[in-house]
Amino acid sequence: MRSSWTRRDFLIGSGAALAAVQALDHFHPCCAMAADAPTAGSELFELKPVADGIYAAIAAPRYKVNCNAAVILTNDGVVVVDSHSKPSAALALYREVQSITKQPIKRVINTHFHWDHWQGNQVYKEAYPDLEIIASERTLENLTRPNAGNGGIPNIEAQREMLPKEIEKLGNDLASATDPAQKLRLEANLLQTQAYFQELKSIQPALPTRTFDKTVSLVVGDREIQILLLGRGHTDGDVFIHLPKEKVVATGDALIDWMPFMNDGFPEDWVRTLDALEKFEFTQIIPGHGGVMPKEHLAFFRGYLTDLIAAIKKADAQGASLDEMKRTLPDQLAVKYEKGMSRHPLGQYRDRIGLNIEVAYGKVIRKG
Ligand SMILES: [Zn+2]
Ligand SMILES: [Zn+2]
Repeated sequence: MRSSWTRRDFLIGSGAALAAVQALDHFHPCCAMAADAPTAGSELFELKPVADGIYAAIAAPRYKVNCNAAVILTNDGVVVVDSHSKPSAALALYREVQSITKQPIKRVINTHFHWDHWQGNQVYKEAYPDLEIIASERTLENLTRPNAGNGGIPNIEAQREMLPKEIEKLGNDLASATDPAQKLRLEANLLQTQAYFQELKSIQPALPTRTFDKTVSLVVGDREIQILLLGRGHTDGDVFIHLPKEKVVATGDALIDWMPFMNDGFPEDWVRTLDALEKFEFTQIIPGHGGVMPKEHLAFFRGYLTDLIAAIKKADAQGASLDEMKRTLPDQLAVKYEKGMSRHPLGQYRDRIGLNIEVAYGKVIRKG
């Protein structure tokens, strides 16, 4: 990721863009909330080696967000974990992978069903018709059932319906913008959204072809790859990809270097699932978003969930309303979490804390 991209760069003069994105959060809330990106350039991923033959493909920030991927080279083909939000992004990574190995990509693993982690599957399937696409059984169900949340085939339809409204709003905001920096940003966001809409019109979703309902250990060429199903968390179908020999884990969005997105999640189960993950031996985390992190980040991220839940329960017991919690808890939790949860331009503490409180309140107190 370009270290020069700071939050300040993103938000300078972009008040209207920010407001527009916030207003449209429900159109694409998984991972692209309350921040935008400067251009739709070609530099989408940085391939970072994390162990011999293991790479983290760290996604550059985009208004239409892409997830990170893990790329695992074996002597029986390449394994790619997650495929981003669109075929063009998957193609960009596919080409990068081709530049480091002549091995075919034989397996793609989808960590969960969210739109920004699987909508590029088709690129690999088209290049390699025998491709195996691996996910949990529940993720496959979520990809096809209506109202599963922020991903899946029904969600593609929903996005197709909503994107023209988003494009219209961005166009209106652009027309009324006066600040040059803001205009540039809105223009870039509009272009990205139009291009994304075009891609979604012709997307040929490729669903998982091999699913598991419990943890398995796969021997792929010279590697052992464990697919861990440890319980509900970010979704009810999360898998973690653990490389025991290399001591690396790819976590999807169940453990990220941004603030968590909780709308399709299970906050209290999530803490227990991370407890279970912590018992495995690994030193590096390739998260669904953000940068590669040491194992210690797990405790920090889990601590946020634990403290958020505890703060909401305590406030509720004291008779506080949700609105009162949204006024007081952000500053209260900021002491421990704002800095560590704001290390990247997207998914920052202040962008998500309000929604996290609202969602966790609904799920923990109202049991919604
Ligand atoms: Zn994501
Ligand atoms: Zn997600």
